Amino acid sequence: MAYKTEALFRDEAYLKTADATVVAVNDRGGIILDRTIFYATSGGQPGDTGHLERADGSRVAIAATISGETKDEIIHVPAPDHAVPEVGEKVSLAIDWERRHLLMRMHAACHLLTVVCPFPITGASVSEDDSRVDFDIPDASFGKEEVTASLMDLVRADHPIFTRLISDEELAANPGLVKSKNVRPPVGTGRIRLVCIGENASVDSQPCGGTHVKSTGEIGEIHIGKIEKKGRENRRFRIRFGPMPEA
Ligand SMILES: [Zn+2]
Repeated sequence: MAYKTEALFRDEAYLKTADATVVAVNDRGGIILDRTIFYATSGGQPGDTGHLERADGSRVAIAATISGETKDEIIHVPAPDHAVPEVGEKVSLAIDWERRHLLMRMHAACHLLTVVCPFPITGASVSEDDSRVDFDIPDASFGKEEVTASLMDLVRADHPIFTRLISDEELAANPGLVKSKNVRPPVGTGRIRLVCIGENASVDSQPCGGTHVKSTGEIGEIHIGKIEKKGRENRRFRIRFGPMPEA
């Protein structure tokens, strides 16, 4: 049976702590809660780490967060050799906020890259210090200096980043919203979450279930570390924090 975990991070990405109740512990020790602030690995963004605090003050370190049988079932994977709480137990949750905030900045930076490079996305992976987005780009004329300059123009403009729900019909009427070449957003639930950038989404909007910072300014300084050729028409862009190193 699949459980349905209330995903608090979906509406409020800035929650660092919350309380929840254990609803199940699976046969591999994975902990399922009624609600959570832990993002589960998906869409190129790694799941959260952190801890659960039990009523007696002891802590269960969470080494990873993944989806279960369905996307709605979120499993908190404890670090090896940690005692696991009982079903029905109330726990206090805390995510590793420093890491999550880096991931939120990086994830938002990946969205900006898809604005600067408006080509079909063939893959993406977000991490704390180096993220990548792969594009299907026929010509190789992009230079990391120009792309970095365009990204930083968007960062400095400090555009708002917000989410909006649309219907399956609205998505079908606006196929241009989907930038992934091979991955289609899940339809059939009646609601698709769009991540929008700029007043009235003037800069960008695309379906995404991840967590992002609330403005482009909060991303801070970033640069393109590398543009690699991956196959005939595939280009892999690597985003890193900080100024571009001197050549
Ligand atoms: Zn996103």
